[in-house]
Formats: sequence, structure tokens, C-alpha cells
Amino acid sequence: MSVEQNVKEVKAKIEAAAREAGRNPSEITLVAATKVQTSETIREAIAAGITVCGENRVQELTAHLEDNAYEGAELHFIGHLQTNKVKYIVGRVDLIQSVDSSRLLEAIAGQAARIGRVQDILLEVNIGGEESKGGCPLHQVMDLARLACQEKQIRLRGLMCIPPAVENPADARPYFEKMRQLFVDIKRELEDNENRITYLSMGMSGDFEEAVRCGATHVRVGTALFGKRPPIGLHK
Ligand SMILES: *Cc1c(COP(=O)(O)O)cnc(C)c1O
Repeated sequence: MSVEQNVKEVKAKIEAAAREAGRNPSEITLVAATKVQTSETIREAIAAGITVCGENRVQELTAHLEDNAYEGAELHFIGHLQTNKVKYIVGRVDLIQSVDSSRLLEAIAGQAARIGRVQDILLEVNIGGEESKGGCPLHQVMDLARLACQEKQIRLRGLMCIPPAVENPADARPYFEKMRQLFVDIKRELEDNENRITYLSMGMSGDFEEAVRCGATHVRVGTALFGKRPPIGLHK
């Protein structure tokens, strides 16, 4: 299967899941998770209708930027971000989806101030409470969201999660529903003119349809677009 066909197929599935849930398919953005892909493949995906690329690694992102590989698409950072790498990301991406600590938040705000930019972010939530995963612990998310809204150089746009791996996509549903509730709570308490909290990023190749049914506005899909990757860590 070609990338072009895969893009078509995934989009059709998103559309069907949205309609099933009584949602308008235009509310959902397909983010292509492009880790380990070549600049050529990324261009192919954009030519096939991908409008947002999500990158995990600072080094790959920088190389693809030098190559102009993302031209025509938005760029999101979706991987684990170390504070010492923040300077390579802030101002170069449209959205950082993976902010999970006050330390990282403050490093991003500091760099944004230095270059005179406002950086859009999502907070990543460790919704399964998994030791092995990044993401802010559930009980700290509201405080981190408040902090994000106080930072002038940061605009909080919503939440992101990577739920625990499950056998059956339907088993991810409780996590997605919990995310949806948290999203609604944070939106209600914190949304204002500066912080338009409208993004809920959840769902990957194995469970994006379920995520769409549960209210996702962004699904991050890699394997279903590009085929199987060589085994590297998913998130870190
Ligand atoms: C790789 C990755 C994805 C996509 O995973 P697939 O299962 O290949 O669709 C989504 N989100 C993040 C943060 C990723 O690292």
C-alpha cells in the first residue's frame, strides 16, 4: 500500500467514526507521526493531504527542517522533550504536545521570551498512571494547567495522552473518556481569550477510531500511514 492510499484510508475511517458519534469530521485533524521517516516520505505524505506532521526527536526534526521536508504542513513536537533541547524547538514548531512538568513549562516560557514568541502547547497526561511513561500525573494536571495559563509566553491549547497499550481498542475507551472529562474541566475553569483550550490529542494507529468517538480533535498516526517501524522506543 502506498502512503497516498493509506492517508485516504485513515481519513475515511476518521470520517466514519466521527459521523457515527454525531461529530463533524472537520473537527478532527490527522497528525502524521513521522518518526524515522525520510524527508522524501514526509513530502509524499504532505502531497497526499497530510496537513500536520508530528515529530518525536529533536535531531530528526532539525534535519527535516533543514531539508524543508515539512513545507506545506504544520509541525508539532510530540515526543519527550528535555529542558536542554527546548531551544531547538520553541518558535520552530506550531505546537508542543508533550509538556508534562513545571520545569519544562518554565524552560519553554523562558526560551519563548528570549526569542519574543508565544508558544502554543498541550499538556501531556499520564492517564494510565504508568511508571514507564512520560506525562503529568493526573492529580497534578490542573495545577500545571493553571501555571501554563499564568505564563505570558505560553498559550495552553489543550491536552494530549498516550494511554496504556491494550489488546482491544475498545479497552482504551475508559482512558479516553477520562481525558475528555479532564479536558472539559480544564476548559471550563481556564479558557479565556489568551488560552483557547480546544485541542484534545489522543488515539494512534491501533485506536484512533475509538479516540474519535470519545472526542479527540487530533489523532496521531504513524504505522497505519507509513507501515511498521523498526523497534525503537515509542515515546522517549
Ligand atoms: C509514534 C507515535 C505515535 C504514532 O504511533 P503509531 O502506533 O505508529 O500510530 C503517536 N504519538 C506519539 C507520541 C508517538 O511517539
